[in-house]
Amino acid sequence: MANDKISLNALIEEAEAAKLSLNAYLLPQSAAELEITEEELLAKMAQMLKVMEEAAAYGLTGVRSHSGLTGGSALKLQNAAAQPGFNKLLGALATDAVTYAIAVSECNAAMGRIVAAPTAGAAGVLPGVLLALKKHCNLTEEQLARALVVAGQIGLVIAARASLAGAVGGCQAECGSAAAMAAGAAVDALGGTPAQAGTAVSIVFKNMLGLVCDPVAGLVEVPCIKRNGGAAVQALLAAEMALAGIGSFIPADEAIDAMKWVGDSMPCALRETAGGGLAQTPTALAWAKAWFERE
Ligand code: SF4
Repeated sequence: MANDKISLNALIEEAEAAKLSLNAYLLPQSAAELEITEEELLAKMAQMLKVMEEAAAYGLTGVRSHSGLTGGSALKLQNAAAQPGFNKLLGALATDAVTYAIAVSECNAAMGRIVAAPTAGAAGVLPGVLLALKKHCNLTEEQLARALVVAGQIGLVIAARASLAGAVGGCQAECGSAAAMAAGAAVDALGGTPAQAGTAVSIVFKNMLGLVCDPVAGLVEVPCIKRNGGAAVQALLAAEMALAGIGSFIPADEAIDAMKWVGDSMPCALRETAGGGLAQTPTALAWAKAWFERE
């Protein structure tokens, strides 16, 4: 599974050698590649963050999807979490991350505007994590914009070495990649080292490897919306372990390559065709039949 395409490990080693954070190392490179200034790149990232915030706010209005299959879950979770007697089993930050992730996914299912980070189906994960960090860790807009630069570079490496599409690599390539991007960004935003960011990426793929793509009726709703919430928690879990100094036996590049290998091995039925998994359960098939007849 050797792969000589662009390497996250190499970027990490270069940043460590330069004694820079990952965002400080990547920002000038990314700006140069896009032929814009660093300030312009950060402004673009800040604009994306604004769209993410608006998407979460729209989702939290309780919006429902066009099909009627999903909607209202983010608002339900937010309302429940605001009750004094509600047990936040995950803790306040993680509960908020799940809420925002689901809210953005519900916005997507309702045809609202989202940032495909890296795809529409997985658009909730990165905002879920970043907006929760903003609220609970008092991160500035610039810190978040820089974290998005890191997330973007991680996504580029995954796209080059493997895939970001559920139709190619299953949901591990969509929600898994989004979680890896969010985990690396979170580590960097919270002051972790480049090596720790790489560890977080690797931990995410270890925990999400093999996740199939099985949307009910081919709609990006079930299980996609709740999976965004789950992936946000996976990202936080990986970031926390990495920040605690826990290492990863498998380096990030190799974990990404393993994700590609698993994706290539998946049958078509589990790659966005709605031909397997949850999409083929009796409940899903009955709903899909009724919906297709209605439409
Ligand atoms: S299940 Fe498939 S369509 Fe849904 S988020 Fe995952 S990869 Fe995307």
